[in-house]
Amino acid sequence: GDAQQPVALAVAPPQPPPPQQQLSRYESQKRRDWNTFLQYLRNHRPPLTLARCSGAHVIEFLKYLDQFGKTKVHASGCAHYGQPSPPAPCPCPLRQAWGSLDALIGRLRAAYEESGHAPESNPFAARAVRIYLREVRDGQAKARGIPYEKKKRKRTPALPAGAAGEGTSSSSAAAAVPGRGEGGDSPTRDLPPCRICFPTYVSVMYTSFAL
Ligand SMILES: [Zn+2]
Repeated sequence: GDAQQPVALAVAPPQPPPPQQQLSRYESQKRRDWNTFLQYLRNHRPPLTLARCSGAHVIEFLKYLDQFGKTKVHASGCAHYGQPSPPAPCPCPLRQAWGSLDALIGRLRAAYEESGHAPESNPFAARAVRIYLREVRDGQAKARGIPYEKKKRKRTPALPAGAAGEGTSSSSAAAAVPGRGEGGDSPTRDLPPCRICFPTYVSVMYTSFAL
């Protein structure tokens, strides 16, 4: 019978836009992250549009951000491998901490959908990105001697309204990651972290670059 027609009104209405005058810390970070990513696309060679962006491009973006990282990740041959706070300096590279990348991807994933794109095409939700983040997490846990606790029992949305899409599945663990500057500030906020990196950053952001 026609009494069983689905009622379109039963679908929850879209969220009202958040008040513009005072963005929360999360919203500000998300906006900055999103703008940074769009800037990255504009500077990409060969040209890359959001519509053609895949999980592989997102991973490329995360690797690009590593040059601005502040977290020492020891190579397996380093004497400090497996130590969170080595007693002496070493030439191992600085990277973005896993917790920062994981939180960043959660924000970009939400921003992508909030800007009107279909969830099915969300490159930040791609399986390849999840796998990459897991590899970063496990690699950094070994290299730095820091076990990243998985907090699986709680799935309460720790993020304020507007983050309806949730972060990545492990974003709740980001808050529990020990160490300086991890999981809190966005990697994009950290640009540029030091004088050495700054010229690189400027040239990267204001001239075209190729990866
Ligand atoms: Zn080292």
